[in-house]
Amino acid sequence: MIKFEGVHKWFKKLHVLNGIDLHVKQGEVVVVCGPSGSGKSTLIRTINQLEPIEEGSLIVDGMDLRSKKTDINKLRAEVGFVFQQFNLYPHLSVIDNITLAPTKIRRTPKKEAQEQAMELLERVGLAVKRDAYPTQLSGGQQQRVAIARALAMKPRIMLFDEPTSALDPEMIGEVLAVMQDLASTGMTMVCVTHEMGFAREVSDRVVFMDHGVILEEAQPEEFFRNPQHDRAKQFLKQLL
Ligand code: ADP
Ligand code: MG
Repeated sequence: MIKFEGVHKWFKKLHVLNGIDLHVKQGEVVVVCGPSGSGKSTLIRTINQLEPIEEGSLIVDGMDLRSKKTDINKLRAEVGFVFQQFNLYPHLSVIDNITLAPTKIRRTPKKEAQEQAMELLERVGLAVKRDAYPTQLSGGQQQRVAIARALAMKPRIMLFDEPTSALDPEMIGEVLAVMQDLASTGMTMVCVTHEMGFAREVSDRVVFMDHGVILEEAQPEEFFRNPQHDRAKQFLKQLL
C-alpha cells in the first residue's frame, strides 16, 4: 500500500528525510516514534503529499507520487489524515463537519452522507452529539469526530500524527480505543505516537526515527524487549 524507496527531503539546507526505505502492506498498522524533530511528521505528511519529496520513489496505493499524472485529489480521498490539533471546522456542527467532504468531493447525496455520518458517529460513540458544535465538545470527543470525518471519505489508508498529544490524560484512552477498533477492521494505518501501550498491543511494526533516518524497524515485542540502537534505548527510557 505504501512504498518508500530511497526517499530524501530537504527544507532548504535541512536534510529532514535522509534515505527512507519503508514498505507498509495492506492492513498493517505501523507506529512511527522517535525524538522531537526527527522527521516523523514530515514522513507521514509525504504520504498524502502535504509535503512533496525531492529524491527517491514513493508509491501509495499504486499512485506514484513523483509522477505529474497522479491526481492529488484522488490520493487525498484515499488517505485519511488525523492531526494532533483536531482541525474541525468551528462554524459547522458535528454532522456537517463529517458530511462536508463526501458531499462536496465524492458528490454523495446529502441524505446518504448523513446516514453514513450517523453510522460513523455510532462507531466512535458520539451519535448524541450530531448537532453539537466543536467548541461544545471535549478534546477527546473532538478527536473522535475528526476520525469519523476522515473515515467518511472511505479512505484505504489512515495516517495519524500524534492524535493524543494535545489531550488531557483521561481522554487519551477513548481515542486510542477508536484507533484500536479501526485497526481490527483491517485498515492500513501509519501512526506517529508515543503511546507505547498502543504500539505494543495494536501495531504490527514499530519504526524508530532519528535525524531523518529510520534507525530501527521491528515487531513491537522485539523493539521493546531488545532495542538495538543506543538512541532507541535512550528514547524508551525517557518515556518510562
Ligand atoms: P517530528 O515530527 O519528528 O518532530 P518534523 O518532521 O516535524 O519532526 O520536523 C523535522 C525537522 O524539519 C525539524 O527540524 C523541523 O524544525 C523541520 N521542519 C518541519 N517542517 C518544516 C517546514 N515547513 N519548514 C522548515 N523546516 C521544517
Ligand atoms: Mg511531529
